[in-house]
Amino acid sequence: MKRINMPYYRLFINGKWVDASDKKTFPTMNPATGEMIATVAEASAVDVGYAVNAARQALDSGPWGKMSASQRGRILMNLADLLQSNAKEMSLLESMDAGKPISAVIRQDVAASVDTLQYYAGWADKIHGEVIPARKDALTYTLREPVGVVAAIVPWNFPLMIALWKIAPALAAGCTVVLKPAALTPLSALRMAEFAMEAGVPAGVINIVPGSGRITGNALVEHPGVNLISFTGSVEVGRGIMHAAADGFKRVALELGGKSANLVFADADLDAAVKASSSGVFFNSGQVCSAGSRILVENSIYDEFVERLVDRARTMRVGDPLNPDTHMGPVISELQRDRVLEYIEIGQKEGATLVSGGQKVGEKGYFLSPAVFADVGHGMRISQEEIFGPVASVLRFKDENDAVEMANGTRYGLAAAVWSQDVGRAHALSARLKAGTVWVNTYGPTDIRLPWGGSGDSGVGRERGHEALEHYTEPKVVWVNLARKAA
Ligand code: NAD
Repeated sequence: MKRINMPYYRLFINGKWVDASDKKTFPTMNPATGEMIATVAEASAVDVGYAVNAARQALDSGPWGKMSASQRGRILMNLADLLQSNAKEMSLLESMDAGKPISAVIRQDVAASVDTLQYYAGWADKIHGEVIPARKDALTYTLREPVGVVAAIVPWNFPLMIALWKIAPALAAGCTVVLKPAALTPLSALRMAEFAMEAGVPAGVINIVPGSGRITGNALVEHPGVNLISFTGSVEVGRGIMHAAADGFKRVALELGGKSANLVFADADLDAAVKASSSGVFFNSGQVCSAGSRILVENSIYDEFVERLVDRARTMRVGDPLNPDTHMGPVISELQRDRVLEYIEIGQKEGATLVSGGQKVGEKGYFLSPAVFADVGHGMRISQEEIFGPVASVLRFKDENDAVEMANGTRYGLAAAVWSQDVGRAHALSARLKAGTVWVNTYGPTDIRLPWGGSGDSGVGRERGHEALEHYTEPKVVWVNLARKAA
């Protein structure tokens, strides 16, 4: 048999590519085939220590701390340009490592990553304190200083984009970063590090330490040299991080899960509602924190809505992510597929009706057909728990109050949507819904200029927009005594 040499990716620490100190590696797979596509060095606690120290040095004594804010902005812009001009290669890498349809990666992940870099490049020289004339006998003003070394820990569903939601504002603010990508999807971040060097990011400013959450992630969270942990991932891990951060009084920003309600009223444009509700729940195989996985539909249109959603789900092309016509690729792993299939069973046992989908597709890879559950009760597990797979739970409501009560009746508070032609109702409900984002007559669009995050189990703080810069900066007061001695 012909031996194929797998690409090997090293850790990126202090501007250099290095093996793990204990030489450990792990494989990364293509979820569409189940085959290995590369080996990656696995950062140990010792390597994490090297990375945090490199980030600290870069902050305290490297060229980064001496650079002007506009120079930092120019470097971020260079990185945006490099990503843009290598968009095809990056999309291919991300598609193969994460099983994401290539058309969506080009349109969404890479485009949004470039936009993120450009947006925060613009912010770099506009982050400043203010003069606050507190007293007549003093000049009192604030500075906004970088918070310090940032530990960025990211999930596998939008690997590059979410990494840049953290790296771009951190660098704009003058911080340095140690990024831990998800073990399932480390490749795009490692490739991005090459572009970062080419863009002029000095050694130690960005460090990439792939590895497991249990070892690499935990070492990063526990490291006393980290000032802020910016985490996106599951509720359970987020809770553990918040506890661990408390010991060292580290700052935290947590973007966690969701079970977002999508409210469809009888006066909605039904064509548009069905179309957007379908992509709202099935986009990225449902592996989206803000997936509209609870669709709440007014009684009088319930049956028609379910019928039309099922028609749409059945026409979705599930298959090879590298085919530009594919709508839905695999889920990320065998484990994730089995987890979703378990929820399909749970839903049926709870008494909901599986109207379509919820089956394995194909012989290899982790493909599933999009599932639609009808007759879902508010308290059922498939209505309350985040499945993170292509599963729509469709519930009935009788009026506005009923709809809001159900929509707000989960432990999450990330996103929600209202479909109605009545503008007054849309505004009134937007105010009543417990969510960081409410969409009206659409589902799912986001923009780097707008804050993102939620309440309850959906997390703490906001990413994106100028709000993100609050996490990455620390205010300092300067008080200059102007009192003059009596003559
Ligand atoms: P996860 O929590 O298992 O892992 C996320 C990251 O944390 C990975 O890099 C992982 O290796 C690391 N990690 C795991 N255990 C750790 C530990 N003990 N210490 C430090 N790091 C650790 O989540 P996942 O399965 O990768 O991603 C799916 C979850 O992410 C879903 O719940 C989803 O809702 C959430 N998510 C939220 C948003 C948002 O913006 N709110 C966006 C994307 C994903």
